[in-house]
Amino acid sequence: AYLDRVALAEPEVNAFLHVDRETTLAQARAVDERRAAGEDLGPLAGVPVAHKDVFTTTDMPTTAASRILEGYRPPYDATVTARLREAGLVVLGKTNMDEFAMGSSTENSAFGPTRNPWDASRVPGGSSGGSSAAVAAFEAPLATGTDTGGSIRQPAAVCGLVGAKPTYGGSSRYGLIAFASSLDTPGPFARNVLDAALLQEAFSGHDPRDSTSIDAPVPPVAEAARRADVAGLRVGVVKELSGEGYQAGVLTRFQESVELLESMGAKVVEVSCPSFDTALAAYYLIAPSECSSNLARFDAMRYGLRTGDDGTRSAEEVMALTRAEGFGPEVKRRIILGTYALSSGYYDAYYGSAQQVRTLIKRDFEAAFEGVDVLVSPTAPTTAFPLGERTGDPMAMYLADLCTIPTNLAGNAALSVPCGLAPEDGLPVGLQVMAPAMADDRAYRVGAAVE
Ligand code: GLN
Repeated sequence: AYLDRVALAEPEVNAFLHVDRETTLAQARAVDERRAAGEDLGPLAGVPVAHKDVFTTTDMPTTAASRILEGYRPPYDATVTARLREAGLVVLGKTNMDEFAMGSSTENSAFGPTRNPWDASRVPGGSSGGSSAAVAAFEAPLATGTDTGGSIRQPAAVCGLVGAKPTYGGSSRYGLIAFASSLDTPGPFARNVLDAALLQEAFSGHDPRDSTSIDAPVPPVAEAARRADVAGLRVGVVKELSGEGYQAGVLTRFQESVELLESMGAKVVEVSCPSFDTALAAYYLIAPSECSSNLARFDAMRYGLRTGDDGTRSAEEVMALTRAEGFGPEVKRRIILGTYALSSGYYDAYYGSAQQVRTLIKRDFEAAFEGVDVLVSPTAPTTAFPLGERTGDPMAMYLADLCTIPTNLAGNAALSVPCGLAPEDGLPVGLQVMAPAMADDRAYRVGAAVE
């Protein structure tokens, strides 16, 4: 049924980069056989899932929506992919994204933009916009994504879905094509909080193949989603994450959610996190710095695209030609920014000070969580914006992650849950719930109470 729905919706939505009916049906039959053999597969067995095309899959191509990896077939599965196969989920296909997860609209894909199923003239958010659009268009019940600066929460918000950024180290990066390794976090998309929790639990947990993976019990997010009560919970409203620059209808729905939490017995207080104002600036030094290093592996030699290798050119020339052709403009912008920020003479002024700001943001969270259990804010300053509106203005695009980036820099957990439609445009608004590291369950508990 989902494959049929994909065939129907794709001409308009373009959520998928790869769908292969036979592979998917073969997987479904294999799950049936495992079940018939008496294997206990858990609650999501047989449920289809769409993977962001940044997770390696042995049976489908993996491109990160880049020409430099067009047609690439990885020799191994990402841990997220492997664990979901183990749990009996069936892969529906690979979803579109901003190239190497750099962007907030999915317009940076080398393979054309994805459209928002709520309004096809608008973006589905990004960078995991193929995953958010697929779930919003009922092409998939569940999807995976990655969140480096907001790429799960923001697309979830503008597509009316639940999306979570787990604690950094709570979900494995093994087999995830790296953008900014100290920030990249795999997480779930679903249409309700419990589904997201079940998906997160199915792929979470310690992975010895990821050196930053946390060796501790998985936060009980499904139990928290079922509990869904907030009585006595202390909720902090982050002063710096609302007000000027936010769409009026976003603030209206956010305010109503806060009142709802209060009416359900939560204790609401205002909290100030002064360093959050500098998070975006720090992120746009740290993320490009890490990306400039990570993307050095696309060298035209080992795998992926190779251009101009006609026997007359040096390896260096082939490398330069390949990277010039294979990377899109936003990826090149980030590599240039990153190599500049890391170059000797500038390192301390740019990368060094950004790392210091990162520490301040972490301290803001720590101080706030001494007085409250969770923090809330809108997930994104606006609802889904029109295709093309921000493609010529990188700064406007970067602002889409104003509310989500602090959590990535600090490494803690957050979730976006739908909180109604903005009155002025009828488009979905998301409430962001932020929790301390390894207390993901608190965010799920609050999310389930308001959904
Ligand atoms: N929009 C942000 C960026 O372009 C975040 C992307 C992400 O979370 N992958 O870097």
